[in-house]
Amino acid sequence: MIHKTYQEQLQTWDKQYLWHPFTQMQDYVKEKPLIIEEGSGIFLKDVNGKEYIDGVSSMWCNLHGHRKQEIDDAIKRQLDKVAHTTLLGPSNIPAIELARKLVEIAPKGLQKVFYSDNGSTANEVALKMALQYWQHKGFKDKTQFVALQYGYHGDTIGTMSVGGIEIFHGAFRPLYFKTHLAPSPYCYRCPLSKQRENCSLACLEKLEDILKKNADGIAAMIMEPLVQGAGGMIIHPSGYLSGVHALCKKYNVLLILDEVLTGFGRTGRMFACLHENIVPDIMSLSKGINGGYMPLAATLATDEIYNAFLGKYAELKTFFHGHTYTGNPLGCAAALASLELFEKEHILEALKPKINHLKTRLKSFESLEHVGDVRQCGLIAAIELVKDKTTKEPYPWEERMGIQVCLEARKHGLLIRPLGHIIVIMPPLIIKTHEIDRLLDIIHESIQIVASSKGHRIF
Ligand SMILES: *Cc1c(COP(=O)(O)O)cnc(C)c1O
Repeated sequence: MIHKTYQEQLQTWDKQYLWHPFTQMQDYVKEKPLIIEEGSGIFLKDVNGKEYIDGVSSMWCNLHGHRKQEIDDAIKRQLDKVAHTTLLGPSNIPAIELARKLVEIAPKGLQKVFYSDNGSTANEVALKMALQYWQHKGFKDKTQFVALQYGYHGDTIGTMSVGGIEIFHGAFRPLYFKTHLAPSPYCYRCPLSKQRENCSLACLEKLEDILKKNADGIAAMIMEPLVQGAGGMIIHPSGYLSGVHALCKKYNVLLILDEVLTGFGRTGRMFACLHENIVPDIMSLSKGINGGYMPLAATLATDEIYNAFLGKYAELKTFFHGHTYTGNPLGCAAALASLELFEKEHILEALKPKINHLKTRLKSFESLEHVGDVRQCGLIAAIELVKDKTTKEPYPWEERMGIQVCLEARKHGLLIRPLGHIIVIMPPLIIKTHEIDRLLDIIHESIQIVASSKGHRIF
């Protein structure tokens, strides 16, 4: 806990000097900032000493809780050796060991690891690899991409070019390269107005139309497997991913899977693509890679891709890409410790009952008047709030419904962040079932409090 006067000082400085990401600062400066001082397990504590459940895993990346002994120790041990050395030329021990480990746990066929430091760069690397692969293979026209509506792959110009969220990405349109957007399998709001029971995945036909017409100009399809995160925790129907994989094969287009969010256990398996037994050509990883400790990312590629870049130096086939902190030893050491915990604490096995418990408990939300859809994949869940349950009419933006529910939850000791009117639930994987109960109780109550304060019916 921090002395009252210094707390106030920090709050003033926060508003004076900081520009927060994805935040309307005009609103932010009107509220009292929440300043975190420390954490332990699934809990975070602010400078007042008030405790919160970290309900979104500190932006979807924490797995084993905060101040996990084994990861703390691994970082300290590495710190006693060296904090950072470059991979441009020399190598380092944790980067080598982690690359080997990642290839061992990744879907079979992904053989090479290219490091960077966040999800956006991991995807930039993937896009550049895919395009240059075809250049090296003599397919000079394959320079475009296919992506999904509501897809999110990062905030750099390249990843925004393949992004499908209009409110984030619309303003920068003049800078983008050519991308074809296929409809998202967002079953609650099906873009084709079909019903899941008898749609036969008609959205795949739309994707096939794009591929059939443009395959000669398309380098790769990029998508988030199973769960489209930032686009609204849209959960894909089973069979969609394997359908996409088959179409990419059929039309000679590479498949890039962005597992930045879904990787490392979130969906109940180590990687989401394992649910449908498919292996992409390129896979990007970041958020959970080292349990949510520090910036690190990896792009995995097949030998087929890697080999296309081999040649005499003068042939200029080299992959000219790299970031200063590529393969940072501290980040890699933390990642090795995190992956060891998966084995030692049987994280994936322990998840099964939690996922089932979450599923059972989420049912209690379905009867709420302002809940349109409740969806779940592994330990990821989303509650979509609607103004009108029958017509699925969303709340107007001005009502800031999602934000209000999350602010209410904060009062009750739960930190969550909405995506528009969608309440996101993504706790660290080590959360216990009684803690899931507490988390859901708080959200349930918060929805009711906010809905009734607006004069809406609750049931
Ligand atoms: C968060 C996220 C990214 C971007 O990662 P950053 O580390 O924020 O750059 C990319 N893809 C997906 C699926 C994500 O969830």
